[in-house]
Amino acid sequence: MKIGFIGLGAMGFPMARHLTKEHEVIVWNRTREKAERHAREFGSRLARDLSDCAAAEVIITMLPTSREVDEIVDKLLPHLRRGTLWIDATSGDPNDSRETAKRLADKGVAFVDAPVTGATVGAENATLTIMIGGSAEDFARAREVLRLCGKTIIHVGSIGSGHAIKVLTNSIMGATVWITSECLLLAKQFGIDLKTALEVTNAGSGRSNASENLLPMRLRDGKWPLVFKLVHHDKDIRIASSIAHQQHASTPLLALTQQLFTAALHELGDQADYIEVAKVIAAMNGTKW
Ligand code: NDP
Repeated sequence: MKIGFIGLGAMGFPMARHLTKEHEVIVWNRTREKAERHAREFGSRLARDLSDCAAAEVIITMLPTSREVDEIVDKLLPHLRRGTLWIDATSGDPNDSRETAKRLADKGVAFVDAPVTGATVGAENATLTIMIGGSAEDFARAREVLRLCGKTIIHVGSIGSGHAIKVLTNSIMGATVWITSECLLLAKQFGIDLKTALEVTNAGSGRSNASENLLPMRLRDGKWPLVFKLVHHDKDIRIASSIAHQQHASTPLLALTQQLFTAALHELGDQADYIEVAKVIAAMNGTKW
């Protein structure tokens, strides 16, 4: 099958590589050098220009936000063919995706939102969890392609549902990272060795992905890799907050988490990793890890 893959960032680059195992993958990236490297190293086909991707039966976008996806849709719209399936793997906005899907449907193009979770390591190892919003028929088509990138693929509901659950689950993670960092710092301030605090947390009721996998490397070992930009995480939590607003829901902890992450983003800047919010928590207490 011909697949057009648009957006070879931290996630898209390895995802497109897995697809080349069974498909002809046409790659396009804003910074062309990345697409050239992909074609050179993994045998994908370099798109001459964006419109080349419209020749594919399936188009996949993996971009920062729904805004960039819409810009690409605008550019590709005149070239699209009936029967194409557009898979948007971006962590996008469910309301925007519903509008995008309508525009594509007018051209006979089906749409599913298919954001992923599992971080860059999951993208590298093809172990992502992928949550899909769309019709049962489009879900089945998307699953057949995305099984090369992920281990768990779940049909969440109608268009937009994948994007909605993605930002909600990331908000759970954000709140967990924040409270775990706060409490570990407090343990340290109390005079408890950080290694011991982590050991107890991970053997007890405070255990989470944050305490087991995300924080030890940073807080204990001093390694702060960039795996998921804070600017993307902040975007996810802001979308979650907008869903709460739309649903007229009372979600005070979500609102606070959004405020904290947005403040941390202003403090740390666009290129910070999301776990660096722990540095802001330390600074709020006049200390460092
Ligand atoms: P990156 O910032 O690494 O990559 C972003 C990609 O989008 C790059 O290919 C970039 O091109 C391209 N891009 C940016 N702006 C534009 C534009 N205006 N027009 C066209 N292309 C553009 O992001 P990630 O790969 O980390 O994230 C992508 C999506 O996946 C986000 O929605 C994120 O929330 C989500 N996600 C990320 C995870 C992670 O751990 N990193 C985990 C799960 C989901 P260029 O190379 O030119 O900059």
